[in-house]
Amino acid sequence: MRLYLASGNRNKAAELQRLADSRPWGLAVEVVSAAAAGGMPAVVEDTGTFVGNARKKALALRAVLPGDAWVLADDSGLCVPALGGAPGVDSAYYAGPAGDPAANLAKLVRAMRGVPEGRREAEFVCVLFLAGPGGLERPFEGSCPGRLAPEPGGAGGFGYDPLFIPDGQALTMAEMAPELKDRVGHRGLAWAKCVGWLAARG
Ligand code: IMP
Repeated sequence: MRLYLASGNRNKAAELQRLADSRPWGLAVEVVSAAAAGGMPAVVEDTGTFVGNARKKALALRAVLPGDAWVLADDSGLCVPALGGAPGVDSAYYAGPAGDPAANLAKLVRAMRGVPEGRREAEFVCVLFLAGPGGLERPFEGSCPGRLAPEPGGAGGFGYDPLFIPDGQALTMAEMAPELKDRVGHRGLAWAKCVGWLAARG
């Protein structure tokens, strides 16, 4: 089946394509970018929740596609209890409206400087929102608990990956193999629920 991705974020698209290619349930899924479908409509992400923002993005793209199209949106971010849950739903714009990933990461490193080992917990959250024919709407959530390293490490992944070490792992998400990020990470866990649901539908 074909899923139109309600996102302009190339990193998310690459991860979702890689997850689709791993075909855990034997279901062949082709992830098509919003750009290839005429462009992602502008969406103000102002609901204050991952699920609310994901739903808004999914319905915005769904509204401009043919009636039988399936749309998938991803809203995700990093929640740090020591920072009152920040950057949270505002992860993409933590350091300002330019949405510069390097500036966001640098701001998080600064904010966590001096925070002791026992208070460096963090959680990555991803909501994948499906919008399908007949008004179908379905959210799938994945979360990945972990902790923040003192300094960034690794060149893989994107965003806050160089600072985040998932529970049970010794490497940051930017240091580990992409397949391991897919297995333990928030997006991979949400994807597994989503594709499992689609496969069960037949
Ligand atoms: P969104 O486009 O509003 O969902 O913002 C997502 C932001 O959360 C990204 O720009 C990153 O800053 C961060 N983020 C989400 N998922 C990941 C991930 O897998 N690794 C690193 N950063 C992520």
